[in-house]
This record gives sequence, C-alpha cells and structure tokens, in this order.
Amino acid sequence: KSGYGRDGVYRSLRPPLFPPKDPNLSMVSFLFRNASSFPDKRALVDSHTGETLTFAQFKSTVSKVAHGLLQLGIKKNDVVLIFAPNSIQFPLCFFGVIAIGAIATTVNPIYTVSELSKQLKDSTAKLIVTVEDLLPKVNDFGLPVVLLNAAKKSGLPIGRIPSITLFSELVNNEGSVNLDSNVNKIKQDDTAALLYSSGTTGTSKGVILTHRNFISASLMVTADQDFAGEMHNSFLCVLPMFHVFGLAVIMYAQLQRGNSVVSMSKFDLELILKTVEKYGVSHMWVVPPIILGLAKSPVVKKYNLSSLRQIGSGAAPLGRELMQDCAKNFPQAVVCQGYGMTETCGIVSIENPTVGTRHSGSTGMLVPGVESQIVSVEKLKPLPPGQLGEIWVRGPNMMQGYFNNQQATKLTIDNQGWVHTGDLGYFDGEGQLFVVDRIKELIKYKGFQFSSSADYGSCHFLNVYLLNVYVVLIFPGGPAADSLNARPDAPLRKPSCYIIYVSDQVAPAELEGLLVSHPEISDAVVIPFPDAEAGEVPAAYVVRSPNSSLTEEDIKKFIADQVAPFKRLRRVTFINSVPKSVSGKILRRELIDKIVLLEMLI
Ligand code: AMP
Repeated sequence: KSGYGRDGVYRSLRPPLFPPKDPNLSMVSFLFRNASSFPDKRALVDSHTGETLTFAQFKSTVSKVAHGLLQLGIKKNDVVLIFAPNSIQFPLCFFGVIAIGAIATTVNPIYTVSELSKQLKDSTAKLIVTVEDLLPKVNDFGLPVVLLNAAKKSGLPIGRIPSITLFSELVNNEGSVNLDSNVNKIKQDDTAALLYSSGTTGTSKGVILTHRNFISASLMVTADQDFAGEMHNSFLCVLPMFHVFGLAVIMYAQLQRGNSVVSMSKFDLELILKTVEKYGVSHMWVVPPIILGLAKSPVVKKYNLSSLRQIGSGAAPLGRELMQDCAKNFPQAVVCQGYGMTETCGIVSIENPTVGTRHSGSTGMLVPGVESQIVSVEKLKPLPPGQLGEIWVRGPNMMQGYFNNQQATKLTIDNQGWVHTGDLGYFDGEGQLFVVDRIKELIKYKGFQFSSSADYGSCHFLNVYLLNVYVVLIFPGGPAADSLNARPDAPLRKPSCYIIYVSDQVAPAELEGLLVSHPEISDAVVIPFPDAEAGEVPAAYVVRSPNSSLTEEDIKKFIADQVAPFKRLRRVTFINSVPKSVSGKILRRELIDKIVLLEMLI
C-alpha cells in the first residue's frame, strides 16, 4: 500500500510509464511530436504584451531561431547563456538553442555582474541572450549578444560586445531548420541544459541535464493528465523560466503535452489574478509565498477565477494549515503539492489531483519511474513508512552530475545512482511523501525533554524523528513537561509506558506553517538562535497583518499550545517582510547573517 519493498526501496504506486527508448531523440522533436494534430491551438501567450502563438507558429518560430543561431556560428555543444525575465521570446530562444544540440544555461536576471561573470566562466558560454535593460550588466564580457526585446540597435550601450543580433533579425532570417529531422544528430544522452543550483552544500554548481532527463521528467509531471485523458489545459508560468520549476515542470512538460503556457514576468498577486481571469487559466503551479497571498489577500474576491481547476505548490515547504486556508478561497479548484529539485529535473513526487486525501501537507506519491529510499541519517539504513530520514531518489530524470565538479557530484550521487537530496522526510502508510525540511536547516535544540501524557498528542509526529533517540516516560496524570523541567526534584511516579522517540531537532518549516495559519500573521520565518544552554533555540521573525495588535507572548502561546515543549518559540521579533528567492524559498541564511548577528552585537 505504501510502495515500500523488501529491499528498502519505495516505488511509485502510479501506473508505469514508458519513456521513449530511441537513443537518437532530441527534446525538441519530442516536444512537437503531436503538434501537427492541433496546429491552431494556443501554445504560448505573453501576458504583458498580449502576443499569442499557436502550436504551428511556435514550431515554425523555433525552427527559424535555430537556423538564426546556426548562422551566428553556434555549434553543437556550445553553451548559450540566457539572462532574461520571462517572456514569450524566452522559450522560443531556449528551444532554438536546444534544437541545434547546443546547451542552454539560464541565469537569474537579478544577478550582479560578478555572479553572472562566475556562471559565464564556469559554463564556458559563447553567446549571451538578454534584454535591453540588462545590457549594461553584460557589455564588458566581450561576447556576442542576442537581444530579445529591443526594436533597434542604435543607442544601445554596447561596451565590448563584438556583435548584437536582435531577436526579430533571428526570426526573420530566410532559412529554417527541420525540427523533425534531428539536426546535428542529437542523442537523448546529450546535455541539453546546465541549470545552476547550490544543491545541498556550497556554492552554485552547473546541474547537467540531458534531453532524456527533460523528456522523462515531462512525462512524469504530466502522467496524471495523461491517465485522466486531459488535453489542452492552460498553465500560468509566473515562476521564473530560468529555474527548473518554470523551465522543465511548467514550460517544457506542459507544452509537450499540448497545453498552453501563459507567461508572466512579475510576482504581483493582483496581476496574477487578472491574468488568470483574462486568459481562462486552468492550472496555476506556484510557490508557497503566492499560496500565502491566495489564502490571505482580500483581492482574491475581486476576480472571476472560475476557470481555475488546480493550484499546485512546490519548491519550498507548504504546511497543511496554509493549504486548507487557500482551498477555502478556491472551492472550485484542487490545491495540491509536489516536490522536486534541479538535480531531479524538477520532479520527484506530486499529489494526484483526483485520488487520495487532500491538504495533508504531503507532497504526494512518487511519480512513475522514480524510486526512493528514506535513509537513517546516523546508520545509513533504509527506513520503513512512518520513519524520518534523508530522502534518496533514483530514476531517468536524475542529473548526470555537476559540471566540471567531480567532488560535488560524488557527494550527491552514489555509485548506485541514488541522488542524496539533503532533505529530511518520510513516507506514510499510503505512499505519500512528507518533506519536513532540509537537513541543514534543522534547529538543534539540545535540552533534555521529559514528556507527559499532555504532550503525547504530538508524539505521533515526534516519533518519526530518529536522529537521536531518547526514552520518553509517560506519567499517568503526571505533571506537565515544563513543570517537570522546572522542578527536577518533583517526585517521580511510575511511568505508564515508555516510548522511544527523539528529537531535539526542530524543523523551521513546521513552525512557519503553524505561524502563518494564524489569521493575524501574514508571513513568518523561523531560524536557529544561538543559546548558551540549549545550543540553538527556535526564534521567529513575524510579519503581522495590518492593524494587528498581536504581542510576542500571544505568538509564543499560540505555538506552545500546538507543539511539544522542545519546539516552542523562545524568541519572537516583528519584521516588515520575509526575504524570499524568486523560486519561493526563504532566504534563511540572509536573515541569520543579518538579524542574528546584529541582535547579538546589541
Ligand atoms: P531547487 O533545486 O532550487 O529546486 O531546490 C530544491 C529544494 O527545494 C529541495 O531539495 C527541497 O529542499 C526544496 N523543496 C522543493 N519542493 C519542496 C516541497 N514541496 N516541500 C519542501 N521542500 C521542497
């Protein structure tokens, strides 16, 4: 029932998938394999300019861009760096690059010149694709540039740029490439993209993803639509296309299935809702900060969002409470969650929108073709359902390694092909995967815990933390845990039972999920705060809703009423906003560095 085998491996409970075996298949010919059956269906929409392309126009434009790139001298295996916000031109260029067997590397447009310079050098890029606004950041690298949005070349700040080609010139060139004929003899195992990610440790590294990785991941992501026989859904893509979620999970996976993709370049809640209404978006796959807005903001009521059938979240933890709050505002849509990482080409598990319990906080079942192990952090042994350990995954969507970085590759993929995700999680008895947090984010609260029967209610969750084992004594009608802690001389009674559980490890995501479920808290982050006695204690930084008079004590009590004593918040501070990355991850390190150090100095 859980997919757990005797060999300690969890396998997908979904019907199997059969990804194409042909070794000479490129992801672009796969993308358009069915397009001639629906040439006039909408493929791409740019929500800012209103520009729309049908599948026939999409395909012919990609073949022109591919030809234009060949004319510019781009060859198989050359790396082309795309440094641009979302737009309709982004996928056209990305697929143009891929179609000729070149390799795309994508960069966050808010990167500084020095961050960009590192990725340019590391990836050995030969051409930069960017937009007019970002030209000043690239004009000293001495590389040719393709400009996606400029109308003319005169007046552009060109610095040391040897040549500038406008996107319109690329598209208006005379020739085209036959996308059905596998130009440049591309193989499924050829590299298609280098997506940069810091992985579980260290600095940003180039994740090598092949054509096979993209093709397999795209079939895994869309398997439930396939089984349900759904066609021509409409997906919003407000997540950045430079990130695996926007690029592989939304853009490539949905377009290859014949769905349309509506691109947006800004994270603005009201604009998102307007776009959903205007284009009749059916699927909105976003990240927790947007779910927070959908759950809490009154603007949701202003728009007709009846076209929405599915709201999905991924890239960062989303708690059960927030899912429930969001679902209340969208009774017509299923709110669900998925889990993946750049190293897995974006996908590991996803909730099935038509089967299973809703809003449990799980990230769903493994997608077909992905295997997993939950491995005990201390003993490195595979664990059965209900026990917490590091999530390991294997399958045809897994990266080949980190570009030019054998050491980091060895630390992440073992010789049996398991990717060690660095995430802590567990499967329940029904094969639903719960991702608790990143191992390195856990707060190590060292105090020895007594637990009374009053705390037993939370033990079902605690007993999955098997990192350090303690024996917990349950005293019938005994004193509450805190008073026991406060009075070590309290007379001990005979315990009614012993439970072995652990855990002095606190997952910030769990406390954050509870905090944002409070009606007067609009956002929150929990970080470790150094403590002489306990090592680290959980400290919350909270954004109150406008006009809220919530106090620090109110918040501490709100959490204390719901968690075991060792997870209680020891500090609460109010802040104006929580720093987050565009892929929805809390920039915890930034907060720890800035706030904690500052507070300690004071
Ligand atoms: P990235 O490579 O930027 O996509 O980041 C991957 C990481 O995001 C994973 O290793 C997890 O730590 C985190 N992540 C992705 N999806 C989820 C999820 N549904 N719940 C918790 N963490 C997630």
